[in-house]
Amino acid sequence: MNIYERRGVRTLINAKGPATRLSGGIMRPEVTAAMAEAAKHCVDMAELQAHASQVIAGVTGAEAGYVASGAAACLTLATAACVTGLEPGRMARLPDTTGMKNEVVVVRSQRNFYDHAVRAAGIRLVEVGLPDRYAGAGVRDAEGWEIADAITDRTAAVFYVADAAARPPLAEVVKVAHAAGVPVIVDAAAQLPPQANLRRFIEIAADLVAFSGGKALNGPQGTGILAGRRDLVMAAALQHLDLDIAWEQWSPPAALIDKDRLKGVPQHGIGRPCKVGKEQIIGLLTALELFVAEGDAARHQRWRAMMETLANGLQGIPGTKVALHGIGSTDEVPTVTLTLERSNRLPAIDVVIALQSGSPAIQVDPLLCDQGIVAFNPVCLQPGEAETVGAAVRQLLLA
Ligand SMILES: *Cc1c(COP(=O)(O)O)cnc(C)c1O
Repeated sequence: MNIYERRGVRTLINAKGPATRLSGGIMRPEVTAAMAEAAKHCVDMAELQAHASQVIAGVTGAEAGYVASGAAACLTLATAACVTGLEPGRMARLPDTTGMKNEVVVVRSQRNFYDHAVRAAGIRLVEVGLPDRYAGAGVRDAEGWEIADAITDRTAAVFYVADAAARPPLAEVVKVAHAAGVPVIVDAAAQLPPQANLRRFIEIAADLVAFSGGKALNGPQGTGILAGRRDLVMAAALQHLDLDIAWEQWSPPAALIDKDRLKGVPQHGIGRPCKVGKEQIIGLLTALELFVAEGDAARHQRWRAMMETLANGLQGIPGTKVALHGIGSTDEVPTVTLTLERSNRLPAIDVVIALQSGSPAIQVDPLLCDQGIVAFNPVCLQPGEAETVGAAVRQLLLA
């Protein structure tokens, strides 16, 4: 029995891909070994974060970086940083933003459940653009001038949720925001791979970018990366670190925090609930370095082999069609879909439910179930599991 079973908790095979609900992925042995070693020593957390900043800067091309408890946590820190700047008094007052810049502009079609993390800093989202799916005149979504129009002297930041389909293009958003002196925060939580995205949003001159540590980076589930401008990362760090220390005693690492620019120690800020441990920071940095070292081509090949094994296992089930996707470019994640014909006895969602209640429990992607499609993703699959998933689906549909 494994450690979960001994405690009466089921384990599962994750063919859905990284999801917080399903505990993320499985870390490489190098990552868990690094975390175990990290647990054996005490460090000054600000010094560890200053080191993380250097590593993240090297990998992303940003001026500075920081680690918090997820991409969502990084978005709260990023927003708080844009609202307060380097003013300890303002940091102390959050989430009460009375008298501060307390609006964040967002394109309406980019609103999503994670923007709670931005609102948590005490700001009000100002939506622009109307992605009109009714008129039939083509979906116009939002344009740069609408963002420019919504920016006022109350605007703390523009929030952008990166995605291949996101409109307007980030470069245009950055241009209008910067013309008004307003920073741009990018949610790039799920934008890896391709690896080039670690640098791309910074190259486009986004001011702060958040990535998940627990998705394709394969780091600790409760970690995220914030990369961006030195002054804003400093403002984020000041609202996250435990600074319960007297001014005279406080000697923060200059690479992360420039004490000369501050009039006081802000102590525990709004980011305090986004705490990460030293083990998670070391685990994340190790995973980040391994992600970069493996490279898109080798990673794609590893995932593709699993998806080909699965596709072979699913061939020839009457009333179904198997397809392999995302194999044309190493920028993509290879996936498999199983399309069930209407004549099939089981609707797609029932296949998903049967698999998750089976033994072993198997989680697959229900996103396209309303089109009769069950989808499979390799990112959290372990060696040998593609065979198990294929056999379980066969058994279910041939029964
Ligand atoms: C996953 C995700 C998040 C949250 O990331 P965590 O690391 O789990 O906090 C935020 N935004 C988007 C778009 C995501 O896909």
